[in-house]
Amino acid sequence: MKHMALRPLEAPIRVAEIICVGTELLLGDIINTNAAYLSQQMASLGIAVYHQSVIGDHPDRLKAALDDAFSGRGRPAADLVILSGGLGPTYDDLTKETVSNYFGREMFLHEPSLEAIKVYFEKTGRTMSESNIKQAMMPEGAVILPNAFGTAPGVAVGDDLHTAILLPGPPFELKPMFETSVIPLIHPFCESVLISKNIHIIGLGESDVEAKLKDLMVTSINPTIAPYCGNGEVRLRVTAKAESRESAEKMCDELISRVYDSPVGDYIYGIDIPSPEAALISQLKELGLTLATAESCTGGMMGQRLTGVSGASAVFLGGFMTYQNDVKVKLVGVDPQTIQEVTEVSAEVAEQMAEGTRKALGCDVALSATGYAGPGGGTEKNPVGTVYIGIATPSATTSLRLYYRNKSRNYIREAVASRAFVAALEAVKNM
Ligand code: ATP
Ligand code: MG
Repeated sequence: MKHMALRPLEAPIRVAEIICVGTELLLGDIINTNAAYLSQQMASLGIAVYHQSVIGDHPDRLKAALDDAFSGRGRPAADLVILSGGLGPTYDDLTKETVSNYFGREMFLHEPSLEAIKVYFEKTGRTMSESNIKQAMMPEGAVILPNAFGTAPGVAVGDDLHTAILLPGPPFELKPMFETSVIPLIHPFCESVLISKNIHIIGLGESDVEAKLKDLMVTSINPTIAPYCGNGEVRLRVTAKAESRESAEKMCDELISRVYDSPVGDYIYGIDIPSPEAALISQLKELGLTLATAESCTGGMMGQRLTGVSGASAVFLGGFMTYQNDVKVKLVGVDPQTIQEVTEVSAEVAEQMAEGTRKALGCDVALSATGYAGPGGGTEKNPVGTVYIGIATPSATTSLRLYYRNKSRNYIREAVASRAFVAALEAVKNM
């Protein structure tokens, strides 16, 4: 076998295309998650992707797609084409043969791959069939990428300026192969890296954030800064491109500290946090504190989100779902007199719910929410969209009035839960 380096080091990889092979994809039977994954990986390696395509299991059309990608019809030509799918043992798995043919390479039996396939079958207790031998046939001069989670090895093949990397279709095989074999293979040819960090903001809407950061957002080209919203929070994604990971990180950190110094700074609750509930749980864990909830308008959403964090059981005791007033009285000891005087949507009731939960369960921190999520209900003083959050800690009980104008029931409930988690996070930091 002729061993060959991937390509000359003086031929950097700047542009890549992604071709996903499979008639199932064209029929809409499976969702093309490999394309999304591979594009994200290219972005973090600083390689531009201008085009993705999906081709059925058809050699001529695949060959045409490869030719388009490498010659760049109507777009910058690709230095690298990553293909996914069609490496399996069956007759419709044609990717390897087609790419090999495209580069004018003969196929040969790669003994170490055949051996690995045999071992794989032995380990999984299945019988290997004749057709699996096809999976060990490789284009001459190819770099073979081992498959730790399946039978089809990956393949990198090409000439001085064009590299094709072929990966198996199943995502649980493709992803580990990409991370363990593809990145080390192409990294020497990458000129820059992209790093992103997320600034998490709560208590300001997307348009408020944009208004407060307008100048910074317009003038920032590298790093760029882009807002996203969802889950009751605004996220600013800061992305820097640099020659090394270290300097890209430094560039991100510098921009993040400028955002901290801006009027938005007070609303930042963390950097690169999976969710407010995860942030709260990890903080409580660190401090050795327990938490419980009493929920009215959120109807268990806080509990659901808290228990969605793995390891929540070390911190979260449980909670009360106190939707109707007499349940607020019976389960968490809200004073009916208070409800009569100021209604259940009030700071007083929110605080009593939180305090009552602490008493009933003996937790350190209790969170409550009571409000009008709409679309019906509401009073003149507290229109639809008004919600009170109560936070009880060993040192104090406080509440927060929130108001969401023209938002859906579900938006309000999600946003209230997020806001409550961040309020609890702040309360325990100040304890
Ligand atoms: P196999 O050895 O399983 O046949 P293969 O490399 O030949 O693998 P395909 O036959 O094209 O790959 O696809 C196998 C399975 O992998 C599909 O049924 C699908 O579940 C998954 N898959 C394939 N392509 C994609 C894709 N682009 N995105 C997400 N999943 C995919
Ligand atoms: Mg297949």
